[in-house]
Amino acid sequence: EDLLLEVKGLKTYFKLGKGKVAKAVDNVSFSINKGETVALVGESGSGKSITSLSIMRLIPKPPGEIVEGSIRLEGKELLTLSENEMTEVRGNEIGMIFQEPMTSLDPVFTIGNQIVESLMKHQKMKKREAYEKAIELLKVVGFSRAEVIINEYPHQLSGGMRQRVMIAIAMSNNPKLLIADEPTTALDVTVQAQILNLMVDMKEQFGSSILLITHDMGVVAEVANRVLVMYGGQIVEEAPVKDLFLKTKHPYTKALLKTIPSIDVELERLDSIPGMVPPAHLFPTGCRFAERCVHVMAKCREENPELMENSPNHKVRCHLYEQVGGI
Ligand code: SF4
Ligand code: MG
Repeated sequence: EDLLLEVKGLKTYFKLGKGKVAKAVDNVSFSINKGETVALVGESGSGKSITSLSIMRLIPKPPGEIVEGSIRLEGKELLTLSENEMTEVRGNEIGMIFQEPMTSLDPVFTIGNQIVESLMKHQKMKKREAYEKAIELLKVVGFSRAEVIINEYPHQLSGGMRQRVMIAIAMSNNPKLLIADEPTTALDVTVQAQILNLMVDMKEQFGSSILLITHDMGVVAEVANRVLVMYGGQIVEEAPVKDLFLKTKHPYTKALLKTIPSIDVELERLDSIPGMVPPAHLFPTGCRFAERCVHVMAKCREENPELMENSPNHKVRCHLYEQVGGI
């Protein structure tokens, strides 16, 4: 496989004052291959959004800081780029889609203005050319009346339409990587499916890869090739999507999957797993899931397990699995 993104030993900490440090992302390593859709899942507070913001280098400093690690995009180290070089990467090589498009679209400019500006800035197009390209992109993302939409303002569109516009803007620069953070969470269920399909279509058409951040295991099942499960700022399980669902290993992942009554589940609150993700400045010495784990052993309270490959391409961080092939 062709490696696109390689994150190694990433630590993103937040200084909370009085010497307290929140280890929001704590030694995270993973990679994304070309053409692959990788889902990053977990409850709120598990560190998944901070991971994606770290890749974009959009961590607010202070109080946040990437204190250690490496993030390489096709071999190029992003953490040592200048701010200007990083702005170029964000426009050209990495596209972003967030949960609420209303906040990412500027309310005072028309849809057309915003796409045209992005194309002029990043693709160095002239205005006329950018305008024509904008119409074309709006058609690609499913607006049959692109000539009308282009003159409208964000508030004139529905949530699903705004998300289509965001996808058009993100794809306008033909990014190698599309980072989508809860892209369908704010949308109606029927619109969610359309937007997911559109993302996958776009990925295929433009040959990009996707890092999809979600708490919705239904979405994961539908679009991901590989899954990373995060808990307490660390990856606790990593597997191809089929293995994650059918050969689930980590007690946390098992609990997550048990909460799915149907394809459309909210993981923001896990009623079936008592307790919550510990705050990132109060992680225990041992396993971070110990307080909520039904299998907790004495060792778990003393030692945080390592993430280890337990079977081919399937990694798990849990003392129950320390021998290869263990349980
Ligand atoms: Fe549970 Fe122990 Fe495994 Fe942590 S290491 S998930 S507490 S069994
Ligand atoms: Mg989030």
